[in-house]
Amino acid sequence: MHEVTGSNPVSPIVVSSDKTVSRKRAKGLSKLRMGLKEELQKIVKLQEIDSQLYKLTHQKDVEKPSRLNETFTGLEEQKRTLATSKEKIQQLQLKKKDRELELQTKEEAVKKAQGELYQLKTNKEYQAKLNEIASHKADVSLLEEEVLKALEEIEGAEKELNQIQGARAEQEKKFKEEESTVATEIKEIDIQMKGLEDKRNIIAKDVNPKIFAKYEQLIKSRHGEAIAPIVNDNCGFCHMRVTPQTINEIKMYKDLVLCHSCVRILYIPEDLEG
Ligand SMILES: [Zn+2]
Repeated sequence: MHEVTGSNPVSPIVVSSDKTVSRKRAKGLSKLRMGLKEELQKIVKLQEIDSQLYKLTHQKDVEKPSRLNETFTGLEEQKRTLATSKEKIQQLQLKKKDRELELQTKEEAVKKAQGELYQLKTNKEYQAKLNEIASHKADVSLLEEEVLKALEEIEGAEKELNQIQGARAEQEKKFKEEESTVATEIKEIDIQMKGLEDKRNIIAKDVNPKIFAKYEQLIKSRHGEAIAPIVNDNCGFCHMRVTPQTINEIKMYKDLVLCHSCVRILYIPEDLEG
């Protein structure tokens, strides 16, 4: 598919740096005779696949779980709000019970004082008892108000609890839906990745082992980007200027040329086309 150009079309691939291989023998090694240019074309294809694989891996391992995590955090927050709300109701009920007991005591005191009223002999004692009854009755009405107020507070808190429970049920539903959506999406990503890996394996098998090893080493140490095109005499990755000498070295296709700055395999896209 590509015609080897240059003054030395049969020279073996340079990374092998196997100078003992005679030209005759090199001719026989049809695989090794493939030019570096063709190897670079394969590497560019590999990089395209690997970039997609890196993107998909990131989606699968980072983006999808973190989306799910957000909803889960919301759910946990609601769990705490729910517990606080329940506790508030319990405390209000205790307060109401306290007031009811006090009320009962006061009502009994009123009854007792009323019973005693007719056994009293003097007007002064009678008046004092009447005052006592009036005082108890004032307490009773105050306590009745407090019981009513506690009841209202309980009603309000229960309404609030209902709302929280409703929101929580909704959030739980949302979480379950999202969980199943994410599971489906991850399944799809796995299928896509499997397809890409199959494609990658076919190409990888065809790449010169030494070049492939270098590429693999770089793709791991360079976070998924092992190669960089020359764009307007700059490294397309780190944008550092590439000297004319380096460009000449690349065009000789004798050895892999790395960017001095970001240490990625450099290539000239226009040169690899066709
Ligand atoms: Zn660079």
